Amino acid sequence: MTARTILHVDLDAFYAAVEQRDRAELRGKPVLVGGSARRGVVASCSYEARAFGIRSAMPMAEALRRCPRAVVVRHRMERYAEASHAFFGILRDFSPEVEGLSLDEAFLDVTASERLLGDGPTIARAIKARVRAELALVASVGVAPVKLAAKIASDIDKPDGLRVVAPADLLAFLHPLPVTRLWGVGEATREVLASLGLSRIGDVARYPEAALVARLGELHGRHLAALARGEDARAVEPEHDPVSIGHQETFDDDLEDRGELAVILLDQADRVAARLRAADLRARVVVLVVKYDDFRQITRRLTLPAPTSDGGTLARTAIDLLAKVAIGERPEEPRAEGASRITPRKGGRVRLCGISATQLEPRDAPRQLGLDEAARARGERLGDTLDKLAAKFGKGTIRRAVHLPDDPDDPDDSKQ
Ligand SMILES: [Mg+2]
Repeated sequence: MTARTILHVDLDAFYAAVEQRDRAELRGKPVLVGGSARRGVVASCSYEARAFGIRSAMPMAEALRRCPRAVVVRHRMERYAEASHAFFGILRDFSPEVEGLSLDEAFLDVTASERLLGDGPTIARAIKARVRAELALVASVGVAPVKLAAKIASDIDKPDGLRVVAPADLLAFLHPLPVTRLWGVGEATREVLASLGLSRIGDVARYPEAALVARLGELHGRHLAALARGEDARAVEPEHDPVSIGHQETFDDDLEDRGELAVILLDQADRVAARLRAADLRARVVVLVVKYDDFRQITRRLTLPAPTSDGGTLARTAIDLLAKVAIGERPEEPRAEGASRITPRKGGRVRLCGISATQLEPRDAPRQLGLDEAARARGERLGDTLDKLAAKFGKGTIRRAVHLPDDPDDPDDSKQ
């Protein structure tokens, strides 16, 4: 297999950096973006704020306790979406293979661009220069032969980082790092690995794979062993929409009940819709993400007749999409000894599902009135009311009533 050159590009302190760029009086100051009583957490903070130990997702009250003179700024998602659009425009000048992970973060496969544009580090420097010149923002970039290492490399020298991991240095780079840097190692897996005395990626690489499989199961064990050896076959997947708002979760136990999945999707749809409304955005496309217990991931998408920020519409669309997805037990197939490659199989138990809303546009953008306009407006008003109630009484106290279809395998049945 020929070595790939993969870049992970990530804007530093994105929302806070946009605010400091747009408002000179904020430069050099600790800035907390969030400001909405509803969410009550720091969405993004400037590096001046990070010096006080403040991190994004920290409760705003805690952040202000650590730095009382910090300036709290209300987020302006539209402005960030605009900057994001320009950011992705720059990235696509360097390769058509751009996989957006969020508004300010993407993988690029530049293998085919290198002959024309220079090697990976040259392209990385050019991207950083253009982001600085055209957007007045700072990007950190990791260059590596696999996604796993590129993502870690972009993070390691932040802010304004550029870390290059040559193919020959891949293991020397990965092995001293803590196991939590591995994709798929959460708290539970970290504890299991710690009980085996494995705290660094190199420890996992040197541990007998059969023993790892015995503790973590066939798929997870082999997956981690391969990653620890620097084997990460994930390709850059350019079809993902870079600008999206989504919510997904990995389950403690794999699921195969469509009814249970539908309830989870409904909750996720309400969360996504609340974030769309908080940002004054509507989405035109709904994407359902399903990951099976063998780590295969599929996505299904549908373009709506009109953009929406209504949780009910998002949920119904996602549940319709779910009806077209194979789910459930699969006969166990023989696996070749030592085979690490996952072969495509139909169906299976579900370990993760999620909804993402893409093709975003401002809520007040002109749009055609549809026949179901009144129903949608009602749904969005209901959503606003739910947001207010949630802000007052706490999340999870108020739930949308759900009527689950009797036969979830019949897509027509799931339209309520
Ligand atoms: Mg970032």
